[in-house]
Amino acid sequence: MIIVMKNTVTDDEINRVSDEVKSQGFQVHLSRGTERTIIGVIGDERVLEKEHFESLPGVQEIMPVLKPYKLASRDFHPENTVVDINGVGVGGREVTVMAGPCSVESRDQLLTTARAVRGAGAKILRGGAFKPRTSPYSFQGLGKEGLELLHEVGKETGMPVITEVMAPDQIDLVAQYSDILQIGARNMQNYNLLHAVGETPLPVLLKRGFSSKIDEWLLAAEYILSHGNYNVMLCERGIRTFDSKYTRNTLDINAIPVLKELSHLPVIIDPSHATGKWEFVRAASRAAVAAGADGLLIEVHPNPSEALSDGRQSLIPDNFTRLMQQIAVIAEAVGRSVDVHAPDSAENESILL
Ligand code: PEP
Ligand code: MN
Repeated sequence: MIIVMKNTVTDDEINRVSDEVKSQGFQVHLSRGTERTIIGVIGDERVLEKEHFESLPGVQEIMPVLKPYKLASRDFHPENTVVDINGVGVGGREVTVMAGPCSVESRDQLLTTARAVRGAGAKILRGGAFKPRTSPYSFQGLGKEGLELLHEVGKETGMPVITEVMAPDQIDLVAQYSDILQIGARNMQNYNLLHAVGETPLPVLLKRGFSSKIDEWLLAAEYILSHGNYNVMLCERGIRTFDSKYTRNTLDINAIPVLKELSHLPVIIDPSHATGKWEFVRAASRAAVAAGADGLLIEVHPNPSEALSDGRQSLIPDNFTRLMQQIAVIAEAVGRSVDVHAPDSAENESILL
């Protein structure tokens, strides 16, 4: 951290700041220029209260030199993290697709969708059981029954499953049924929830809040990592911008290369919530894979017009299959791969029906 002093600074003010820095276990490097005096702080500055030093007399400005997050940063962990989800690796060469309905509605709906997405190459089944709906009058999910169905259908079709956990007191229940804990956009800065999932061994998919900056998002990931859970995936799902007439949100494609530079954590794109319209989901998915995403999270429904949530943005299975074929070509062009072939092992035979 560099502390820039005002040009009117006195020796007493410089000494006071230097003494405070030293009293917190840091070394000081003083540089007196003709225009400005600068105090360099030597040590891991992240534990220092920037605001405190800003408030000391004679201080003009504080300039951090380290990123505010540590465990999430690529400086700390130069290699890409590959999160293992029951044998499915996320963050390696393969682009991993997670797909399924917005909400689990019935066994039939889920099984039909699961078979279709598995047959097209999806590796992980998504489905909401506890739904964070904007309106309290909208369908809130099937709760425990939804979790049971998700678990059962995941087993039947040979896919690990992902579902959202909305509160710390739901974690034990959700963890019994789900292979990944999803933290929704609305909960990105729910620090009690982040702390609590950080104490579980389960992989966590952390969605970006609608209006969150990248540093805030990485600091939210840091909450999970700093409580001992290193299996974190970041999911961009569209942010609020000034124009929301044609799409539900704006997909921040920039976030992919930015996160890849700043962090080692896998980056997943959710083109369904980002666009809000099924007819734009394929284009957004192609762009995401071209830009280096490690995976996609996509809503698929066998009959979107009857969906209990997010039907407008849900793909029908045929369109999902086309999407998979298209992103396979793009993945190849950028040195990645997408496995579009249905598995043919005996245990997964049922999905081919
Ligand atoms: C979801 O994926 O089911 C969901 C509710 O998404 P978000 O938190 O991004 O709105
Ligand atoms: Mn949804």
